[in-house]
Amino acid sequence: MKTIGLIGGMSWESTAHYYRVINQETAARLGGLHSAPLILHSVDFAPIAAMQAAGDWDGAGRQLADIARSLEVAGAEVIGLATNTMHIIADHIIDAINVPFIHIADPTSDALIADGFETVGLLGTRFTMEMSFYRDGLTSRGLTSLIPEVDRTNLNGIIYEELCRGIVREESRQVYVTAIERLAARGAEAVILGCTEITMLIDDSISPLPVYDTTDLHAKALVTAALA
Ligand code: GLU
Repeated sequence: MKTIGLIGGMSWESTAHYYRVINQETAARLGGLHSAPLILHSVDFAPIAAMQAAGDWDGAGRQLADIARSLEVAGAEVIGLATNTMHIIADHIIDAINVPFIHIADPTSDALIADGFETVGLLGTRFTMEMSFYRDGLTSRGLTSLIPEVDRTNLNGIIYEELCRGIVREESRQVYVTAIERLAARGAEAVILGCTEITMLIDDSISPLPVYDTTDLHAKALVTAALA
Protein backbone atom coordinates (compact mmCIF):
# COMPACT_ATOMS: atom_id res chain seq x y z
CA MET A 1 0.00 0.00 0.00
CA LYS A 2 1.28 3.45 -0.89
CA THR A 3 1.78 6.11 1.78
CA ILE A 4 -1.03 8.67 1.96
CA GLY A 5 -0.17 12.33 2.58
CA LEU A 6 -3.03 14.23 4.17
CA ILE A 7 -3.22 18.02 4.56
CA GLY A 8 -5.59 18.45 7.47
CA GLY A 9 -6.59 20.77 10.26
CA MET A 10 -9.33 22.56 8.33
CA SER A 11 -10.79 21.81 10.75
CA TRP A 12 -9.04 19.25 12.93
CA GLU A 13 -12.52 17.96 13.87
CA SER A 14 -13.09 16.69 10.33
CA THR A 15 -9.49 15.54 9.96
CA ALA A 16 -10.13 13.22 12.92
CA HIS A 17 -12.97 11.68 10.86
CA TYR A 18 -10.62 11.25 7.91
CA TYR A 19 -8.05 9.49 10.08
CA ARG A 20 -10.65 7.06 11.42
CA VAL A 21 -12.29 6.32 8.03
CA ILE A 22 -8.94 5.87 6.23
CA ASN A 23 -7.80 3.33 8.81
CA GLN A 24 -11.17 1.56 9.05
CA GLU A 25 -11.34 1.27 5.26
CA THR A 26 -7.77 -0.04 5.08
CA ALA A 27 -8.55 -2.67 7.71
CA ALA A 28 -11.76 -3.62 5.89
CA ARG A 29 -9.92 -4.12 2.60
CA LEU A 30 -6.71 -5.72 3.84
CA GLY A 31 -7.96 -7.42 7.01
CA GLY A 32 -6.18 -8.31 10.19
CA LEU A 33 -4.15 -5.60 11.86
CA HIS A 34 -3.63 -3.59 8.70
CA SER A 35 -3.82 0.18 9.02
CA ALA A 36 -2.90 2.96 6.61
CA PRO A 37 0.63 4.26 6.13
CA LEU A 38 -0.14 7.96 6.41
CA ILE A 39 1.69 11.25 6.92
CA LEU A 40 -0.53 13.99 8.30
CA HIS A 41 0.32 17.66 8.16
CA SER A 42 -2.33 19.34 10.30
CA VAL A 43 -2.29 23.12 9.92
CA ASP A 44 -3.31 25.83 12.36
CA PHE A 45 -6.70 26.75 10.86
CA ALA A 46 -6.93 30.30 12.28
CA PRO A 47 -4.46 31.92 9.84
CA ILE A 48 -5.97 29.96 6.92
CA ALA A 49 -9.48 31.12 7.88
CA ALA A 50 -8.17 34.70 8.10
CA MET A 51 -6.75 34.40 4.56
CA GLN A 52 -10.13 33.03 3.37
CA ALA A 53 -11.95 35.99 4.92
CA ALA A 54 -9.44 38.40 3.31
CA GLY A 55 -9.77 36.68 -0.07
CA ASP A 56 -6.04 35.89 -0.04
CA TRP A 57 -6.43 32.63 -1.92
CA ASP A 58 -2.99 32.88 -3.54
CA GLY A 59 -1.33 33.23 -0.13
CA ALA A 60 -3.21 30.22 1.21
CA GLY A 61 -2.48 28.33 -2.00
CA ARG A 62 1.26 28.95 -1.70
CA GLN A 63 1.24 27.76 1.91
CA LEU A 64 -0.73 24.58 1.18
CA ALA A 65 1.35 23.86 -1.93
CA ASP A 66 4.52 24.07 0.21
CA ILE A 67 2.97 21.61 2.64
CA ALA A 68 2.00 19.22 -0.17
CA ARG A 69 5.55 19.35 -1.50
CA SER A 70 6.94 18.62 1.98
CA LEU A 71 4.62 15.62 2.28
CA GLU A 72 5.93 14.27 -1.02
CA VAL A 73 9.54 14.82 0.09
CA ALA A 74 8.68 12.98 3.32
CA GLY A 75 7.47 9.96 1.33
CA ALA A 76 3.80 10.53 0.53
CA GLU A 77 2.83 8.78 -2.71
CA VAL A 78 -0.72 10.07 -2.97
CA ILE A 79 -1.99 13.33 -1.51
CA GLY A 80 -5.37 14.60 -0.29
CA LEU A 81 -6.57 17.95 1.03
CA ALA A 82 -9.10 17.38 3.81
CA THR A 83 -11.48 20.29 3.10
CA ASN A 84 -13.81 21.12 0.25
CA THR A 85 -13.38 24.89 0.48
CA MET A 86 -9.61 24.93 0.09
CA HIS A 87 -9.93 23.01 -3.17
CA ILE A 88 -10.26 26.54 -4.53
CA ILE A 89 -6.46 26.37 -4.65
CA ALA A 90 -6.21 22.72 -5.83
CA ASP A 91 -4.21 23.83 -8.88
CA HIS A 92 -1.50 25.32 -6.66
CA ILE A 93 -1.03 21.90 -5.06
CA ILE A 94 -1.22 19.93 -8.32
CA ASP A 95 1.45 22.18 -9.83
CA ALA A 96 3.75 21.67 -6.82
CA ILE A 97 3.81 17.86 -6.64
CA ASN A 98 4.71 14.88 -8.80
CA VAL A 99 2.41 12.34 -7.13
CA PRO A 100 -1.36 11.97 -7.64
CA PHE A 101 -3.66 14.49 -5.97
CA ILE A 102 -7.09 13.04 -5.17
CA HIS A 103 -9.62 15.85 -5.67
CA ILE A 104 -12.52 15.68 -3.19
CA ALA A 105 -15.16 16.35 -5.86
CA ASP A 106 -14.11 13.38 -8.02
CA PRO A 107 -15.22 10.47 -5.80
CA THR A 108 -18.32 12.48 -4.91
CA SER A 109 -19.28 12.97 -8.57
CA ASP A 110 -18.40 9.34 -9.34
CA ALA A 111 -20.74 8.07 -6.61
CA LEU A 112 -23.63 10.33 -7.65
CA ILE A 113 -23.30 9.35 -11.31
CA ALA A 114 -23.00 5.65 -10.45
CA ASP A 115 -26.25 5.93 -8.48
CA GLY A 116 -28.00 7.60 -11.42
CA PHE A 117 -28.51 11.10 -9.99
CA GLU A 118 -28.47 14.22 -12.17
CA THR A 119 -29.75 17.08 -9.99
CA VAL A 120 -28.12 17.43 -6.60
CA GLY A 121 -28.24 19.85 -3.69
CA LEU A 122 -24.94 21.29 -2.50
CA LEU A 123 -24.35 22.35 1.11
CA GLY A 124 -21.06 23.80 2.32
CA THR A 125 -19.36 27.03 3.22
CA ARG A 126 -20.41 30.20 1.40
CA PHE A 127 -17.21 29.86 -0.65
CA THR A 128 -18.13 26.35 -1.80
CA MET A 129 -21.78 27.19 -2.46
CA GLU A 130 -21.33 30.62 -4.05
CA MET A 131 -17.97 30.59 -5.87
CA SER A 132 -17.77 28.71 -9.15
CA PHE A 133 -14.84 26.34 -8.45
CA TYR A 134 -16.90 23.51 -6.98
CA ARG A 135 -20.13 23.76 -8.97
CA ASP A 136 -18.21 24.05 -12.26
CA GLY A 137 -16.55 20.72 -11.48
CA LEU A 138 -19.95 19.12 -10.94
CA THR A 139 -21.30 20.68 -14.15
CA SER A 140 -18.35 19.31 -16.10
CA ARG A 141 -19.40 15.84 -14.96
CA GLY A 142 -22.97 16.40 -16.17
CA LEU A 143 -24.44 17.12 -12.73
CA THR A 144 -26.79 20.04 -12.08
CA SER A 145 -26.24 21.51 -8.62
CA LEU A 146 -28.69 23.54 -6.56
CA ILE A 147 -27.65 25.64 -3.57
CA PRO A 148 -29.96 27.01 -0.87
CA GLU A 149 -31.81 30.19 -1.88
CA VAL A 150 -32.09 31.36 1.73
CA ASP A 151 -30.17 30.92 4.99
CA ARG A 152 -26.71 30.53 3.42
CA THR A 153 -25.17 32.88 6.00
CA ASN A 154 -26.60 30.78 8.82
CA LEU A 155 -25.51 27.49 7.21
CA ASN A 156 -22.00 28.92 6.77
CA GLY A 157 -21.91 30.27 10.34
CA ILE A 158 -22.82 26.89 11.79
CA ILE A 159 -19.72 25.44 10.11
CA TYR A 160 -17.22 28.02 11.37
CA GLU A 161 -18.79 28.97 14.72
CA GLU A 162 -19.89 25.50 15.80
CA LEU A 163 -18.76 22.40 13.87
CA CYS A 164 -15.13 23.49 13.37
CA ARG A 165 -15.04 24.02 17.16
CA GLY A 166 -16.59 20.63 17.97
CA ILE A 167 -20.01 22.09 18.90
CA VAL A 168 -22.99 20.02 17.69
CA ARG A 169 -26.42 21.59 18.38
CA GLU A 170 -29.84 20.06 17.70
CA GLU A 171 -31.14 23.45 16.50
CA SER A 172 -28.38 23.58 13.90
CA ARG A 173 -29.15 20.05 12.76
CA GLN A 174 -32.72 21.21 12.10
CA VAL A 175 -31.44 24.20 10.08
CA TYR A 176 -29.62 21.76 7.82
CA VAL A 177 -32.58 19.35 7.58
CA THR A 178 -34.82 22.28 6.58
CA ALA A 179 -32.30 23.36 3.94
CA ILE A 180 -32.29 19.83 2.51
CA GLU A 181 -36.12 19.75 2.48
CA ARG A 182 -36.16 23.01 0.48
CA LEU A 183 -33.58 21.63 -1.99
CA ALA A 184 -35.75 18.52 -2.42
CA ALA A 185 -38.81 20.71 -3.09
CA ARG A 186 -36.84 22.44 -5.90
CA GLY A 187 -35.94 19.14 -7.54
CA ALA A 188 -32.75 17.93 -5.88
CA GLU A 189 -32.61 14.13 -5.91
CA ALA A 190 -29.68 13.83 -3.48
CA VAL A 191 -27.56 16.15 -1.35
CA ILE A 192 -23.80 16.64 -1.25
CA LEU A 193 -22.43 17.32 2.22
CA GLY A 194 -19.86 19.60 0.58
CA CYS A 195 -18.09 20.55 3.75
CA THR A 196 -16.10 18.01 5.69
CA GLU A 197 -17.71 18.91 9.04
CA ILE A 198 -21.39 18.52 8.03
CA THR A 199 -21.06 14.78 8.65
CA MET A 200 -21.10 15.72 12.35
CA LEU A 201 -24.74 16.91 11.93
CA ILE A 202 -26.34 15.00 9.07
CA ASP A 203 -26.47 11.39 7.96
CA ASP A 204 -28.83 9.23 5.94
CA SER A 205 -30.97 8.44 8.98
CA ILE A 206 -32.25 12.02 9.31
CA SER A 207 -31.74 13.51 5.84
CA PRO A 208 -34.83 13.94 3.63
CA LEU A 209 -32.55 13.16 0.62
CA PRO A 210 -29.85 10.52 0.06
CA VAL A 211 -26.59 11.88 1.49
CA TYR A 212 -23.23 12.04 -0.34
CA ASP A 213 -20.75 12.71 2.43
CA THR A 214 -17.54 14.17 0.99
CA THR A 215 -15.51 13.28 4.10
CA ASP A 216 -16.36 9.60 3.85
CA LEU A 217 -16.12 9.41 0.05
CA HIS A 218 -12.80 11.29 -0.09
CA ALA A 219 -11.20 9.27 2.72
CA LYS A 220 -12.18 6.01 0.99
CA ALA A 221 -10.94 7.31 -2.37
CA LEU A 222 -7.54 8.01 -0.81
CA VAL A 223 -7.40 4.38 0.34
CA THR A 224 -8.39 3.20 -3.15
CA ALA A 225 -5.62 5.32 -4.69
CA ALA A 226 -3.09 4.08 -2.15
CA LEU A 227 -3.97 0.46 -2.91
CA ALA A 228 -3.95 0.91 -6.70
N1 GLU B 1 -13.89 21.83 6.20
C1 GLU B 1 -14.73 22.72 5.52
C2 GLU B 1 -14.91 22.36 4.07
O1 GLU B 1 -14.90 21.19 3.76
C3 GLU B 1 -14.71 24.16 5.86
C4 GLU B 1 -13.48 24.70 6.50
C5 GLU B 1 -12.63 25.35 5.48
O2 GLU B 1 -12.96 26.48 5.12
O3 GLU B 1 -11.68 24.75 5.00
O4 GLU B 1 -15.14 23.19 3.24
